Amino acid sequence: MSTADPLFGPYGSSALPYIDRFAAHGANAFWFHGFDAAAIEACEQHGVAACVEFKTFRADFDARPELIPIGVDGQPIRYGELVQGVCLSQHEFLAETEANLLDGLRRFAPTGIWLDYLTYAGWFETPEPDLQESCFCPACIADFCAATGIDATTPQQILATAAGAWTRHKCERVARFAAHYAALIKAHRPECIVGAYMCPWTPEEYDGALARIFAQDYHLLAPSIDIFTPLIYATKSGRPPTWGRDFLTQAPAFIPAGKPVQLILDALDFPESLLATAEAQQPGWGVQLFGGAHVFADAERAAIIARAVEQMRGKGDAA
Ligand SMILES: [Zn+2]
Repeated sequence: MSTADPLFGPYGSSALPYIDRFAAHGANAFWFHGFDAAAIEACEQHGVAACVEFKTFRADFDARPELIPIGVDGQPIRYGELVQGVCLSQHEFLAETEANLLDGLRRFAPTGIWLDYLTYAGWFETPEPDLQESCFCPACIADFCAATGIDATTPQQILATAAGAWTRHKCERVARFAAHYAALIKAHRPECIVGAYMCPWTPEEYDGALARIFAQDYHLLAPSIDIFTPLIYATKSGRPPTWGRDFLTQAPAFIPAGKPVQLILDALDFPESLLATAEAQQPGWGVQLFGGAHVFADAERAAIIARAVEQMRGKGDAA
């Protein structure tokens, strides 16, 4: 990793008008969607680390139904507006994603790029997730059989006789994409930090859904990813404001040693969630505040951030 200095700051371009106040409130970084020229330029002007959230496996399923993964019943999966993940046998879409990344890398040199939606299909910002196994399209099943040497043709057969191998195969597939994108980033911008947004569940929750449904395996991803960023949206997920702190406490059990974790907290949970995180023994490698614009717009709220950042920096957890 190219910087020892943990990054703190808001996520979301609506915070851009307040960028001149970031430094006064302990923020040294700004996360925004895509290679946003205006945001990157403003970061350069104000000495703020520019961090791109890069969309990998997410698309408008209504516009591109061919990308909808196939469920265990052979039909396209159910989905809501927050769904992420696509059928990973859709090569045209994957080529577009890669072209978008390369285009951004040629034009800009951000401090970091956080890979988003780097998962199989589902959505987790809810207390009652609708978890579905996927993708059982013929191409994805053929890929599984070729990769593992297992001869199975139907979803039922795969889940009944080779569920572990199926999950492992999906995790390896996602990890290969992570390695590929990280290699592209480092080839063009060797100093660039590679982050990944993560499903915020422990490996055991929801019957192993982190791997079984979302195909995110910290150990497989670790060689490619510099910073892991779980989405700690407590209110939306029906969790307490201490969720982030609890995650950090449990993280050493399932995240490889020495691999920095940086929470993204939801401004909806502010300030309780941030204050709880700052109380953690190992508060992580900085923090992102999703939708934090209004926090920076208000001097009193911004002062809370400044104190929390100071508290976290004082613990020297730069991993
Ligand atoms: Zn598929």
